[in-house]
Amino acid sequence: NQKIVLANRPAAWVEESNFRLEESPIPEPGANQVLVRNRWLSLDPYMRGRMSEAKSYAKSVEIGEVMVGGTAGEVVKSNHPKFAVGDTVVGAMGWQTWAVADGAALQKVDASAVPLSAYLGVLGMPGVTAWVGLMDICAPKAGETVVVTAASGAVGSVVGQLAKIHGARAVGIAGGAEKCRYVVEELGFDACIDYKAGNLRGDLKEATPKGIDCLFENVGGEIFDTLLTRMNPFSRIAVCGLIAQYNSAPYPMQNIGAVLINRIRMQGFIVSDDLSRWPPALKELAGHVASGRIKYRESVADGLAAAPAAFISLLKGGNFGKQLVKLT
Ligand code: NDP
Repeated sequence: NQKIVLANRPAAWVEESNFRLEESPIPEPGANQVLVRNRWLSLDPYMRGRMSEAKSYAKSVEIGEVMVGGTAGEVVKSNHPKFAVGDTVVGAMGWQTWAVADGAALQKVDASAVPLSAYLGVLGMPGVTAWVGLMDICAPKAGETVVVTAASGAVGSVVGQLAKIHGARAVGIAGGAEKCRYVVEELGFDACIDYKAGNLRGDLKEATPKGIDCLFENVGGEIFDTLLTRMNPFSRIAVCGLIAQYNSAPYPMQNIGAVLINRIRMQGFIVSDDLSRWPPALKELAGHVASGRIKYRESVADGLAAAPAAFISLLKGGNFGKQLVKLT
C-alpha cells in the first residue's frame, strides 16, 4: 500500500517537501469493514486548508497522518452485508492506494452508465457544491445574469451550465484564452472573460450589460473586488471559495461597501451543511449528465507519487477541469 502523509505544514505556497510517500502493508478489514483498492483520488482546493493549523470548518490533518481526500475504487474484501467483492464505491479514504473503511462510510455507485471518476467531480462533491450554491443561495430567475469565477473548473463549469438550463445568462471568469474558449464553445456559457488578458473591468462591463444578479464566487482577491462593482441592487452572492487567498496571509476584504449600497444578499456555505440537499442535487445533475446537457472535463495525474505536484498545480490553475489522480 502506498500512501502520502503530511510531512510538515506549508508557510505560504504548498511545496512537494510538505508531503512524504510511505509504504505499508495492505490492511485487513475488521467487523463490518470493507477493503477497497482505490482507483481514483480527487484533488480539491480545500486540502490546502487541512494542511494548515488555522481554525476552519474542519479539522486539520496532523503531521504524519495520511492526507485527506475523496476516493473512488473497487471492493476487494468485504465483511459488510451491503458490499460485495467487485462493487464500485466512493468514500473519503485519503491519498492512498488501498484502504479499509467502515461500510457505513462508503457509498456504492454505478460505474456502468458514467465513468467511476465522475463521482468525484460532476456527480460528486463539486457538482453538489455548484447546485447548492446556485439553486439555494443565488436562486437565479430566467433572464438574470449569473457570473462564476474559476469557470472552467470542477465547480464553476457546473454552475454556468446549470444557470443556462434554468434560463439565466451565464458569464464565466477563467485564466487564459484556451479555458475561456472551452467555457463558451463547449460548455455553452454566453461569455467568458480571461482575467489574465489584463482588462477585467472593461471586459466585464461588456459581458454584463445588465449588471450581475448572482455572483458565484470561487476566487476572492482582486477579481472579487472588481466583480462587486457590477452587482445589481438586491443581487445575491454565494461565497463558495476564495482560492486566490488560500496561499497568502489573511486578506482584508475591500469594496464590501457594494454589499451595503446594493443591499446584496451574500452567504457563505459549505457543501456538507445540509445533507438533505445532496439527493435532489445529484438527481438533477445525473439526468443532465446522462442527456449530455452538462459536460465535464478532467485533468488526470498518473500514480499516487504524482499527487503532490498535481495538487500544487491545481492551486495555481494548472488543472483544466476536475483534477484527479489515477491510482493504477
Ligand atoms: P477548480 O477545478 O476550479 O480548480 C481551481 C481553479 O482556481 C484553478 O484551475 C484556477 O483556474 C483557479 N485559480 C487558482 N488560483 C487563482 C487565482 N489566484 N486567481 C483566479 N483564479 C485562480 O477547483 P474546484 O472547482 O474544486 O473549486 C473551486 C472553488 O470552490 C475553490 O475555491 C474551492 O475551495 C471551492 N469549493 C467550496 C466548497 C464549499 O463547500 N464551499 C466545496 C468545493 C469547492 P484559472 O486557471 O481559471 O484561474
